[in-house]
Amino acid sequence: MFESVDFHCHLDLYPNPSEAFAAAARSRVYTLTVTTTPRAWPQNLVFSKGAEHVHPALGLHPEVVAHRFNELSIWDDYFPQARFIGEVGLDASPKCFRSLDLQKQAFEHILKRCASDGGKILSVHSLRAVKAVLDSIATHLPAARGKVVLHWFTGSVSESRRAADLGCFFSVNAEMLKSERGRTLVSALPMNRVLTETDGPFTSVEGRPANPSDVLDTVSQLAKLRGVDCALMGLTLRENLSGLLA
Ligand code: MN
Repeated sequence: MFESVDFHCHLDLYPNPSEAFAAAARSRVYTLTVTTTPRAWPQNLVFSKGAEHVHPALGLHPEVVAHRFNELSIWDDYFPQARFIGEVGLDASPKCFRSLDLQKQAFEHILKRCASDGGKILSVHSLRAVKAVLDSIATHLPAARGKVVLHWFTGSVSESRRAADLGCFFSVNAEMLKSERGRTLVSALPMNRVLTETDGPFTSVEGRPANPSDVLDTVSQLAKLRGVDCALMGLTLRENLSGLLA
């Protein structure tokens, strides 16, 4: 059984990946470990073997699409093996903006493939590209054909409502709760669509990379923010995960 959930981290990108996987397996955190290139998929399967609540996701990160677009065919090859898809999505921030058209081609391909097979759960990146991500989901992935978790969502409150109407979940990390804007956004999310994440090792806690067990702190911050007991917040998040996985 698991006590909490880290629905977006990159265990294969820690300084010592096999130790990161082993620590996640020993923890009581349901961990979705996303990949940035489909080439990483076989090794992630090996690392997570036998770890009941550590699950790899098959990804092609928008930041690498510019020079790895041709790996979409590798992504296709592994697709039937994967229940979880991620990290995928769009990134229109300055360093990725130039590849946005290519990113859209890749993301649409991924969404269509998910819609045609059905039953996949996606962890989706939408930095500076919330509208385009939601437009693509609305067009290519009906809610009945796949479930989307928006990772580190930084859109507006009204965009979060549109996302919720499309059936999306939101995985929330500690960084999002550091700004007033972030706290306002997270307060407005429908509580039955919220999960927690770390995005480790790309976030840090006390100068070290965050690891899945650090979600416990995010659970207690969420409880405070929403004015509920920490144990109740933990229960809500576990129920949300069960609903997503059902
Ligand atoms: Mn990430």
